[in-house]
Amino acid sequence: MPNKSSWVQIPEGSDFTIHNLPFGIFSIKNGKPRVGIAIGNQILDLAAVARLGHFDALKIDKKVFSQNTLNDFISLGKSKTSRLRKKVQQLLSSKKSPLIGKRAVLIAQSKATMHMPVAVGDYTDFYSSIEHATNLGKMFRDPKNALLPNWRHLPVGYHGRASSIVVSGTPIHRPKGQVMPVGADKPIFKASGRLDFELETAFIIGKENKLGNSIPVNEAEDYIFGKVLFNDWSARDIQKWEYVPLGPFLGKSFASSISPWIVTMDALEPFRTKGPVQKPKVLPYLKYKGDKNFNINLQVSIQPQGKKETVVSNSNFKFMYWNMSQQLAHHTVNGCNTKVGDMMASGTISGRDNNSFGSMLEISHSGKNPVTLDSGEKRAFIEDNDTVIMRGYCEKDGMRVGFGEVRGKVLPAR
Ligand code: CA
Repeated sequence: MPNKSSWVQIPEGSDFTIHNLPFGIFSIKNGKPRVGIAIGNQILDLAAVARLGHFDALKIDKKVFSQNTLNDFISLGKSKTSRLRKKVQQLLSSKKSPLIGKRAVLIAQSKATMHMPVAVGDYTDFYSSIEHATNLGKMFRDPKNALLPNWRHLPVGYHGRASSIVVSGTPIHRPKGQVMPVGADKPIFKASGRLDFELETAFIIGKENKLGNSIPVNEAEDYIFGKVLFNDWSARDIQKWEYVPLGPFLGKSFASSISPWIVTMDALEPFRTKGPVQKPKVLPYLKYKGDKNFNINLQVSIQPQGKKETVVSNSNFKFMYWNMSQQLAHHTVNGCNTKVGDMMASGTISGRDNNSFGSMLEISHSGKNPVTLDSGEKRAFIEDNDTVIMRGYCEKDGMRVGFGEVRGKVLPAR
């Protein structure tokens, strides 16, 4: 398929090539939210294409394209959604496409507002980067035993808050909460002084497993519709005081931001790669066949108000110790059911060196070594009116498949 082109003009370096075709929910002025596919700087309006009858052969109820979430569309199952994506690929690449000249089906992304692509029922956050877990273990516990005894045996995770997941562009207010000042004997209530991002991706459940049933590790990808970029905002001072013994709570639940376009597993297929060797050997229910990691370049920038952005991290999803299939197999091994639209975040994705860490906590070594931005300002954590931008893309043999970006501005505490 390489070098397949489209009659839609696709700018050099675009994330949204003919090989990608991610799904999202968009609206234009005075219009209702509906389903679209990103192509170049445009959005293909699937509700409009469906009305023209181009999907009739797929026997899909046209109503799914006029919803304000993708849940009903995703629930059709991959046999239909993958065929639809292929049909769109054909419609956007064929020189004889019946859509050529039908201007109403393409909308400039600059004129559209993007919405949450799915209604998220449940959200789980994993902790699957060995580099990140080691860095944090060294900082907060014992440098010689940075990983807790369970870490190499199971993908550690916790149940997060779905209600506060927001789409890219939504501003975040600095959270307030209880913190324990160094050397104090009782906590105080204040705005977080250590607001951080976490560079993550999240996968979206595309098929339910019934309560009581588990998803086998080698079938797990059938249950995954696609992926987004995920910024798991974290208030480190609140987190540090509250997290014992039940784990993260208000230091995390105030907001998480996602990119608006869901990149499908079909689009990611060419970018499979081997995962790290897992030692000791995992239990049989976590033992997988084939390559289950994906080579996705990831980047984080900080942009102070009125200034240019500075890249503070370049990481890659391929570093993940535990892959998505293992995460989902583990999540359901006790019979826990998952539902279409549920979101499972990877955990902070850190690489091996300082330039590839996925949080300010690691980049600034818990605030001790602030980074200097191109503007000359220093940052140990995120300041008010800073915008954090994350980007991600795969590239191979001239094919580029990207996620676009997730951006979020931090407003002062209310
Ligand atoms: Ca996280």
